[in-house]
Amino acid sequence: MNRIDLKQLIEAVADTIAAHADELTALDQAIGDGDHGLNMKRGFEAVRADADGLAAKPLPEALKAIGTKLVMTVGGASGPLFGTLFMSLGKDLPAEPGRADLIGAFGKAIDAVAARGKSQAGQKTMLDVLYAVQAALVAGEGPADIATAADAAAQSTAPMKAIRGRASFLGERSVGHVDPGARSSALIVRAVAESLEG
Ligand code: ADP
Ligand code: MG
Ligand code: MG
Repeated sequence: MNRIDLKQLIEAVADTIAAHADELTALDQAIGDGDHGLNMKRGFEAVRADADGLAAKPLPEALKAIGTKLVMTVGGASGPLFGTLFMSLGKDLPAEPGRADLIGAFGKAIDAVAARGKSQAGQKTMLDVLYAVQAALVAGEGPADIATAADAAAQSTAPMKAIRGRASFLGERSVGHVDPGARSSALIVRAVAESLEG
């Protein structure tokens, strides 16, 4: 893994969320309450606003601070879940992680999200993307293939029936739409993967 340029990484994630905010909103309009694009944009713009301060911290401290900021700013169901993901990564990752560190910390972070959401794989949520990323990491795949796996996992939520979150209120009518949180997770994964690669 290349040395992590945290500022560039934060900018890349905030850019992709901003560029896709309308798409995330449209996905959430189909099976939720239509705020996912705004929620995520608000959160990652708040993170971006503090990019210099965050980038000055060691990686674990920066990740914990990002998680806290997301909890405070994203709102909705997804805020505490993305917040938990980043806070947990910050708790378990060393300052200069290798792949084995990442696999260990990411596994724990996914467990923390699942516990917080009382959710599991196959329920049409962001977790479907996170588990696919973990599988790709364990399989030894590189950043480009990990990003592709995340995109595919987001698409794979379309035929699923939602079991958790607002979309579950729709029951069978949630079938046929990509889950907004799965899509935003895949966008974040692609931005991180491309930053680490380039
Ligand atoms: P809200 O539903 O409160 O408006 P958002 O629209 O910001 O919040 O986020 C919705 C996304 O959050 C969903 O698309 C889904 O991926 C994720 N989500 C919601 N509830 C859960 C849960 N219990 N477990 C995992 N992910 C969830
Ligand atoms: Mg919503
Ligand atoms: Mg909402």
